[in-house]
Amino acid sequence: MSQTNRFQEQSPASPEIVLRFPDLHPAFDKQAAVPEANRCLYCFDAPCMQACPTHIDVPKFIKKIASGNLMGSAKTILDANILGASCSRACPVQVLCEGACVMHRYNKQPIQIGRLQRYAMDALHASGAPLPFAPGEDSGASVALIGGGPASLSCAAELRRRGIRADIYDARPLPGGLNTYGIAEYKLTFEASLREIDMLAQLGVNFHFNTTIDAEKLEELEASHDAVFLGMGLGAIHRLGVAGEQMQGMTNALDFIAGYKSGSITAAPARVAVVGAGNTAIDAANAAVRLGATEVHMIYRRGPEQMSAFDFEYEHAKQEGVKFLFHVAPIGISGSEKVEGLELQKLEASADGSLVPLQGSNVRLPTDMIILAIGQSTHTDFLAAVEDRAEKVKLERGRIVIDRASGQTSNPKYFAGGDCTNGGREVVDAVADGKRAGVGIATWLEGENANA
Ligand code: SF4
Repeated sequence: MSQTNRFQEQSPASPEIVLRFPDLHPAFDKQAAVPEANRCLYCFDAPCMQACPTHIDVPKFIKKIASGNLMGSAKTILDANILGASCSRACPVQVLCEGACVMHRYNKQPIQIGRLQRYAMDALHASGAPLPFAPGEDSGASVALIGGGPASLSCAAELRRRGIRADIYDARPLPGGLNTYGIAEYKLTFEASLREIDMLAQLGVNFHFNTTIDAEKLEELEASHDAVFLGMGLGAIHRLGVAGEQMQGMTNALDFIAGYKSGSITAAPARVAVVGAGNTAIDAANAAVRLGATEVHMIYRRGPEQMSAFDFEYEHAKQEGVKFLFHVAPIGISGSEKVEGLELQKLEASADGSLVPLQGSNVRLPTDMIILAIGQSTHTDFLAAVEDRAEKVKLERGRIVIDRASGQTSNPKYFAGGDCTNGGREVVDAVADGKRAGVGIATWLEGENANA
């Protein structure tokens, strides 16, 4: 197997899934990309650049597309965001760069920054050209990175560019974390995520797969590396806490999405109920429709205004045919070995604004599958030290507390970033965190060496 295609070749993408999950925003061709690039006003102090968590120089990369310098454009993107390809597909641009575009002030369509970014990144990948950076001269230092998702990948790239050894440890068999296993296939394919990581591997990042980190393993990594980066994201999705959750037909949104992306789920039953109202819940509901379900309901205890999903995701789900049941709470699951229905109770607002059950309002929603998407727990148990059981790093409500500028935790040797520090935000936020932490670790190591 060649070094440059190590992971992409392992993509399980089946023709059936490719057919059912076509690109939500198809790629630009040259005839569309250049006129779109030429619409850009190349603002000085561009608001899109400020709105991007990784502060990509958007006017600069777009100008290079307009002048036909696609490799230069990709380099501008990668300089700020090493996962520029996946971010171009996964970013909720409506609330980030494109939401800040000055064109809104003139009642014009914003520049399609995400699609232009993808155009430049796709051109780089298609050219077969190497990553436009080389690893730095070997510094002799090494860092263990826990979790193989966007935060760790971004941090590892910064470290390698400074000649620091980067060892990524991940429980799964392939890298990318949520990028590979958790983003709807019509936004970011399994294959596109792996293709991007293949390029990153050219910097000499070392990957250790199928490796679960417990307190003991962490001690070992701490002893054998100069610093540790914690980028393991969040833990399992919460359960409902009602009887029957062990029945066949119960699953959660992350397992469901990872299942169809990795080929172990190829179809959904006819009736599916998704409990939750965030962006992941919507991705799962849309996937159920595309996998053949004919009746998909989303269940939420509050109203549409309180949904944590973005408005455009809500609209998208409605277009896909997903139906919404608001102001209801699950109180039971019916069935014997297999799920047959979800018992719901209507809720109403009391005088103080809290939601209370509406007596005698119970309804039964017949369903063959229940997908839970009601928030994730934290995954920080292994941070308890083996010897004294004291926590390795300071936590607040299960989240790792960091200095936002450097990513450093309360334990100087430990840095962190991404969902395990912020409770779950966008891929691009994790990339920005990883980048800051990579620089933070390098600076801290320099200081340690100077003091040695
Ligand atoms: S990384 Fe995301 S937010 Fe930043 S410019 Fe690109 S598409 Fe916009």
